[in-house]
Amino acid sequence: MVQDYKLFIGGEFKASSTGETFEDLNPATLESLATIQVAGPEDVDRAVEAAEAGFRLWNEVPAAKRAEVLFRAARILQERKKELAVLMTEEMGKVLPETRGDVQEAIDITNYAAGEGRRMLGETTTSELKEKFCMTVLRPIGVVGLITPWNFPIAIPAWKIMPALVAGNAIVFKPASDTPLLAFKLIEVLSEAGLPPGVINLVTGPGGTVGKAVVRHPHIKAISFTGSLDTGKWIMEECSKTMKRVSLELGGKNPVIVMDDADLELALEGVLWGAFGTTGQRCTATSRLILHEKIKDEFIKRLLAKAKALRIGEGLLPETDIGPVINKAQLEKIEKYVKIGKEEGATLLYGGNRIDLGLPGYFFEPTIFTDVRPDMRIAQEEIFGPVLGVFTVSDLEEAITLANSTRYGLSSAIYTENIGNAFRAIEKIEAGITYVNAPTIGAEVHLPFGGVKGTGNGFREAGTEAVKEFSEVKAVYIDY
Ligand code: NAP
Repeated sequence: MVQDYKLFIGGEFKASSTGETFEDLNPATLESLATIQVAGPEDVDRAVEAAEAGFRLWNEVPAAKRAEVLFRAARILQERKKELAVLMTEEMGKVLPETRGDVQEAIDITNYAAGEGRRMLGETTTSELKEKFCMTVLRPIGVVGLITPWNFPIAIPAWKIMPALVAGNAIVFKPASDTPLLAFKLIEVLSEAGLPPGVINLVTGPGGTVGKAVVRHPHIKAISFTGSLDTGKWIMEECSKTMKRVSLELGGKNPVIVMDDADLELALEGVLWGAFGTTGQRCTATSRLILHEKIKDEFIKRLLAKAKALRIGEGLLPETDIGPVINKAQLEKIEKYVKIGKEEGATLLYGGNRIDLGLPGYFFEPTIFTDVRPDMRIAQEEIFGPVLGVFTVSDLEEAITLANSTRYGLSSAIYTENIGNAFRAIEKIEAGITYVNAPTIGAEVHLPFGGVKGTGNGFREAGTEAVKEFSEVKAVYIDY
């Protein structure tokens, strides 16, 4: 039985005003997992009104008490981890170890944000005058709009929702249309944990209508968005019209540098999973491999052997290494870039084709291009699929210049046994994250996460920045 999911507004499931629905499909089998309602503008208005009422209530709850709801939510997530991971594999396609990791990240950020409820740190400082006390306090923003992508269907929403909640805000949440089911599961968990009605509200439907209505709503004070660069730019422009606060986590074109002194086996594993894990559909996926000329031939030979051994299939099967891509549009986008790469003169070393597994879903081969030049579109544009471009350099300086040659700046990595090279890369690579002797993927929740240049607008999620993203800082002067 395919369940019908209504909107979640003011603590209740409510039918949308449009009467329209869409199907939530399994990308491996194209079976419907759920029927989801399409919200209309009136529904977004109702969700915002409910959130305003929720905010008045939630804002009065001390942060340490708000945190107790989150600690309970973390426990429920833990108890339901297996079930949620299976559902995520069905909904999004990635393999079970990855979906377990996704749920674990949600658990981790929930515990982390809950811990912040007993900190909520401001500062005390000196005054120019005597008998005056100066300090800062954190205040909630109000009703915030959260818009998320499909590639981490529970971790990314949790990275936004949990810090926003502990900071005292109320939420209107618009999840990706490819993964709404996991969003509903998160709502279930929070309700069971005791979150009062109205504090979180869920509206589903296309970004082009529902997402836009959230972004434009005059009573929503801030937007936190994770998704593509183009959508992010539109949101930023739109928010500038009303001076709405906006934090953006956008795309990546993440480089890995492998120096001639690197531990090659370690680097090979890192590049393989960084590029092809989650079928390349991570903002932090390795999409550019920058090899020192001395190890280039050997590295490529060994990488090719490993790529050929990867098993593509349904994510629930234990023998599968790589699941399907999320939808038809994404599959066609990957095919388009393979064609572009060939036309631009890169050498297609391996892959480049759809795979017919006898299932109707969207399976694609791990794909490697060599002889890639930095000015090619496949070297510059985010493909968001299992496509890796390989470059050759003669020294570290050239490698770093190449690493910095795109508009993005999210993740990066260097493999080297030379500590000096490692520190030079940390200093000079233009990215929010640099890994040394580890792949570009695998963020931990207690470190700030985000990017520079076209990847973001200066905010960071998780880590010590998590609560700040959803707080206003107030300066307080007390004369005594
Ligand atoms: P997307 O097309 O930009 O969509 C992201 C979200 O925005 C979805 O919920 C989408 O709704 C909604 N949306 C689309 N157009 C909108 C509009 N005009 N106004 C408001 N909302 C709108 O991105 P995606 O394809 O889902 O996700 C892949 C992208 O996310 C990649 O670029 C990836 O690098 C990036 N990403 C970044 C990070 C990071 O932390 N930096 C993490 C993960 C992913 P619908 O689903 O209904 O279209």
